[in-house]
Formats: sequence, C-alpha cells, structure tokens
Amino acid sequence: MLTEFHIGIDDTDSTLGGCTTYTATLLFQELVSKGFKPLDFPWLVRLNPNVPWKTRGNGALSLHFSIGEEQLEEVKKIAIASVERTTDLAQQATDPAVVFFTGRVSNPLREFSARALHDILSVREARQIAESVDAEVHLLKGSRGLVGALASVGADFDHDHTFEIIAYRTSETIGTTRRVSLDSVRQMDTLFRGLTFNNVDPETGRALICPHGPDPVLLGIRGEDPTSVTRALNKLEIDEPIERIMIFKTNQGTDAHLSCQRRIGALRPYQSTTVTGIVNNVPRIVRGGHVIFRIHDATGSVDCAAYHTTGSLRETSLQLFPEDSVTVSGGIRPRPSGELTLNVEKLEVTSLVDKIRLENPPCTNCGTRCESMGRGQGFRCRKCKARFPRNSRVEKVEHRRIRVGVYLPPPRAHRHLTKPASRNGIRRPTPFGTNNSSMDEILESLASISIAS
Ligand code: ATP
Repeated sequence: MLTEFHIGIDDTDSTLGGCTTYTATLLFQELVSKGFKPLDFPWLVRLNPNVPWKTRGNGALSLHFSIGEEQLEEVKKIAIASVERTTDLAQQATDPAVVFFTGRVSNPLREFSARALHDILSVREARQIAESVDAEVHLLKGSRGLVGALASVGADFDHDHTFEIIAYRTSETIGTTRRVSLDSVRQMDTLFRGLTFNNVDPETGRALICPHGPDPVLLGIRGEDPTSVTRALNKLEIDEPIERIMIFKTNQGTDAHLSCQRRIGALRPYQSTTVTGIVNNVPRIVRGGHVIFRIHDATGSVDCAAYHTTGSLRETSLQLFPEDSVTVSGGIRPRPSGELTLNVEKLEVTSLVDKIRLENPPCTNCGTRCESMGRGQGFRCRKCKARFPRNSRVEKVEHRRIRVGVYLPPPRAHRHLTKPASRNGIRRPTPFGTNNSSMDEILESLASISIAS
C-alpha cells in the first residue's frame, strides 16, 4: 500500500562549504531515478531569520514522496547515506539531522513549524514533538539540527508560497568567482518582472542571484511559478559548467516570519515579530549612521533600530515624530544592558500627527518677522520697533516629508522571507495534498530544465 512519506533535513552545511539544498537535491534526484514518486517539489523552508546560530539564511529542507510501505526502510537508508555523503562532520557548527514522518502531517507538527518561524525553540521540545507524532529522528552529531528538520516537514503553504530554481557548480569551480554575465541578469530581470523577484538591486544595479561563499550554489532565481523561474534561468549567460539544477517550493518572499503580532511587554530575544505602537521621541542617529526611535504600547516601550543598510527605510524612520502611529516588524536583539531592541525590517506608518513649530510673530504694522528681546521678554520688530507680548508666537504646521504607507529596505538588505514590494497583493495558497502540482507536472517541470550554456 502507498503512503505519504516525508523527509526533513537540516544543518548539513557550514560557513566553509556545503549547502542543505544541495543535499536535498541529490537525495530527491536519487529517489526519483530509482522510481519513487514525489508528491511535490522539494521544499526549501526558511525559519526564524533571527536565530543567532544560523549559518546563513536559516533554511531547512523537506522531501515528500508517495511510497509503498514495504520500501520505507530502503528509502530511509538512501536518505541517511545521502546526508552522510554530503556533510563535513568535522565542522564544529554542523549538526545534521534527518527526520522521517509517515502519513498525513498532523497539527502538532504544523504548530511547531509555525512557531519555528518566529520564536526560538528548544531541542528538548523538538524531541517531545517528534515522539508525540511518531517521527523518526536521526542525528549524525549534535542535536540542534532537529529543530529545523522537524519544522521543515510541518511547513504550511496554506497562505502563500513561491519557487526558487537553483543551479549548482561543479566541484572544480567551487570557491572561484561565479561566471554569470551581469548584463544577462539585468535583461532577465526586465523580461521577467512580476514573475520573478529580487534578481537585481535597483539602487546599486548589483545582481542578487549569486551568493558569494564557497558553497556549491552558482545562482538561485526566485519567482512565482516553476515555468517562469526555468525560463528566466535559460535567459542567463553562464560561463561555467553547471553540475545540476533543482526547483524548490518555498516560503521565501512571503513575510511568513512576521505574521506573529506581539505586545511590547511580551517581546523576547531573537523573536521575529510585528509590534504596533506610538512613537515616543524624536528619532536620533547613533554611531554608524543607524536611526533609533522608541515606541510604546499599553504594556511597555522598546527601541527600534533602522540600520544604515536599510536605505530608504532608515530615511523614513528619521522623519518620524512623537505620537505618530506605526507598525514595526523585525527581529528582537538583546543589548548588553539586558534591554531589547527591535531591528526594523519593515515599517508601516499608520498615522502622522501634525508637526507644529512655534515661530516669532510677524509685525502687525509692516509684516517683518519680529526678533526675540530675550528669554521671556516678548518680541520687537527690527524695522518699525513695535513690540509684542511673549505669548504672541504663531503656530506653524510643518510639512511632513513622509506619508502613511509601508516602507521596506532595498532588496539587497532583504531577508529571504521578506515579501518584496513587487509581490504586494500577491498570495498563492496551496494546502498540502489538495491543490499541489501533480507528480507528472513536477517531473515534467524538472525534466524540462536544460541550460543552453
Ligand atoms: P543555510 O541557509 O546555508 O542552509 P542555515 O542558515 O540554514 O544555513 P543551519 O546550518 O541550518 O543554518 O543552522 C540553523 C540551525 O538553527 C539549525 O540547527 C536549526 O535546527 C536551528 N533552528 C532553526 N530554526 C530554529 C528556531 N526557531 N529555534 C531554534 N533553533 C532553530
């Protein structure tokens, strides 16, 4: 009898090399080549980007197959061998974990996964959940990877999802400069605007599809559907061999980590969150050019930091004024003093107060602006010498340089999960197992990828 079989993998990489997406790709391709039927594209599930011990983008991977019960043991063996083959266990920060789950994904697993997007979860809790839902756990070294591996199986694309096509390098080229024509990336970006996102940073013109480290990823194109990302990849001029290609279904570009709204009094270190509050003070600029403003709600107050790298978001933050209403999203960082700071990833200005400045009065005889005669002394016209009392200053409503609206950093400063402005209003829901691509479509999409380089 056929059954749903889910494999979660995390933490097979380190800053010195490797990539969990590569492990998942090898395994997916091996299983398909052996005749096992996928239920979906491999999932690239981004988790809480504010976890302090992540290697890069806190990604975990899961594979979903329909498998005969008598073949489960064979598939498990292949999966573990694949993870062992692609992991450098000598790296200190690498704690690979593999999770096997048979049958329909249950609610406790989904809830755990949802919380892994915006909280810090313990390995202890992950073990308890795994035990309660009867998930099989394989740890190759330490246990930290279990959180991500388990969360990737329970991921939920009910509200939104996107795709990423990733091309991998051959072992000889890893560590060298990536040979992808920048002009071709810009042209591709123009051709596939609306269907792909974050290919190029519009302010600097920099290509954002290539990482920079010693990992096997040559490039990744993010977009709305498998066909668009494949066609976009085929438009690129690539001057190095490609070892293999895979398409992932993912929560990237969906803001999934910011869906948890919290009161200020409930904030804890390393959460990803959204807070609604009122601005306390005039923002200030600190060393490094970062802008700090404080907000409050009925439960407390917190400093919000708009970093220099956030560009226009920082500029907008600087224009805030006491009593403005805002909704701020981002990561919570502890300061050495124990106080918390909300590092701003997205700012929504919901209402702006009138900014009132008191000006010296104009002379009622000749219209000239009066000068002050000294502290508490009233005003005097410089031209006709008329005098005016000290309460004669006039209120002037200052022009606010910002408007009500949502402000994001430039794409080069985005998290993988940040929903780019180009996806505004787009939402692609797919409850697992109901509206997914059929297996034939998936295999067809993957087989149709051929690179003209
Ligand atoms: P890459 O993006 O290159 O795959 P990474 O940034 O995903 O690397 P990992 O090496 O996977 O980094 O390390 C992240 C670690 O954090 C994993 O061990 C994962 O289990 C754990 N983790 C992920 N989310 C949470 C969370 N919400 N709470 C606690 N631990 C988490």
